[in-house]
Amino acid sequence: MIRENITNVKADIVAACEMAGRDASEVTLITVSKTKPVEMLQEAYDAGSRDFGENKVQELLDKIPKLPQDIRWHMIGHLQRNKVKYIVDKVYLIHSVDSLRLAEEISKEAVKKQVEVNILIEVNVALEESKFGTTTEEAVALVEAISRLPGVHIKGLMTIAPFVEDAEENRVIFQKLRQLSVDIAEKNIDNVSMNVLSMGMTGDYRVAVEEGATYVRVGTGIFGERDYSK
Ligand SMILES: *Cc1c(COP(=O)(O)O)cnc(C)c1O
Repeated sequence: MIRENITNVKADIVAACEMAGRDASEVTLITVSKTKPVEMLQEAYDAGSRDFGENKVQELLDKIPKLPQDIRWHMIGHLQRNKVKYIVDKVYLIHSVDSLRLAEEISKEAVKKQVEVNILIEVNVALEESKFGTTTEEAVALVEAISRLPGVHIKGLMTIAPFVEDAEENRVIFQKLRQLSVDIAEKNIDNVSMNVLSMGMTGDYRVAVEEGATYVRVGTGIFGERDYSK
């Protein structure tokens, strides 16, 4: 089932790229494996997944040593400053940086551990109260401030779109994130690139790809519904 789901999601991505006149090699599928046991992650790995997304530090730390070393781990959940030190040298990309204070902590730990950490700025485009992320208005100033920190490199933007029945409703959200990344790129800020757009989940990744996503983060569409009761 997992293999078949991955095949289907990838086919959807290819189709969405064709619709938009994009090259499918520009889009990477992140297999979102939070709450799922390592056996299921291994199944996804065997089916070709190399990028995995998790949203909790402890779960990441538990899973990393149990799975192949060539996996690229993506931290996609809200990150507390006191947990930064556990993951800076273990993750490939942190998608959820939304404050200067968090970025300063990442920078401090990066320098201490002598690693270079790649991050995305999380933007709450829809201004949902329940979500983390900086606002579209504050994003530029935040990027400029973070760009001066050693050991940290901004690679692009991330957003979590609202949960909607009809994915078309989120198209405007994805367009706004993409426009923001274009606006920031035009400023040519040192140590900042805007090549990455992390947007789109199970319900809306096709629309996100049509609007320029370079990473889509899919969990339910690969593993089925999550069970939080355990
Ligand atoms: C859980 C999660 C996803 C995956 O959501 P699905 O709807 O299961 O595909 C994507 N992004 C983030 C930040 C998440 O926390």
